[in-house]
Amino acid sequence: MAYTKRFDGRKFDEIREMEAKVGVIKSADGSAMFRMGKTIAIAAVRGPRNLHPRFLQNPEKGILRCNYDLMSFSVNERKRPGPSRRSQEVSLVTEKALLPALNLDDFPNSVVDVFVQILQADAGTRCAGINAASLALADAGVPMSDLICAVATGIIHKDKAVIDINKEEEDYEGGMADTPLAIMPHSGRITLLQMDGEASREEIKSAIEKTKEACMKIRDVQVNALKKKYGGIKDEI
Ligand code: UDP
Repeated sequence: MAYTKRFDGRKFDEIREMEAKVGVIKSADGSAMFRMGKTIAIAAVRGPRNLHPRFLQNPEKGILRCNYDLMSFSVNERKRPGPSRRSQEVSLVTEKALLPALNLDDFPNSVVDVFVQILQADAGTRCAGINAASLALADAGVPMSDLICAVATGIIHKDKAVIDINKEEEDYEGGMADTPLAIMPHSGRITLLQMDGEASREEIKSAIEKTKEACMKIRDVQVNALKKKYGGIKDEI
């Protein structure tokens, strides 16, 4: 059966309501909250700081280390506290999504630690985490060539791209290929592209284009959050 109307009434290219705040964890070097609908991510940055043990150090430049997890209370089903295969995978892709925007050449032997915690999960948590982490890194003053904006699109076979799917859509029985994507908005470079499901080359291409457009709206929310803390500007752009 065709998916003609979204479960929550949004347009097919409409992102959930977003909210972002920078500097939410005062003791961290940088921090941010990013909310997409009911999915809420918090990111904290520590560093650049000396990396121990020393055999992990790179004398040429600093390294980035990401740690992502869902809080036990963030999901409806039972979730064991502590790392899992999934959290390790999401930590790794978060790291790879963020790294192209960072310049750690001036920080040999150092590490920048990024901690992402999901307070409330309604799908798209890795993307909300990347959006929060990108802001937290900027807040920490880590040299960056661009922000990173991420959103997950659902691709329905022979139907359409569904931007920023929630959990109900992700579980859609008609089949929805969950496709998280992250870009550097300035250059348009893709830094994360995953897909869980099946879709044709054309469907993927068209979904990527629509997702990139949606990412620009995320960028606006991120820039506004940074301006609120650093620009002394209260108005939205
Ligand atoms: N989820 C859950 N328990 C888990 C892992 C995931 O309930 O242990 C839910 C949660 O709502 C999450 C969604 O499944 O947002 C989708 O998970 P996925 O691994 O696809 O990553 P995400 O879409 O969150 O980046």
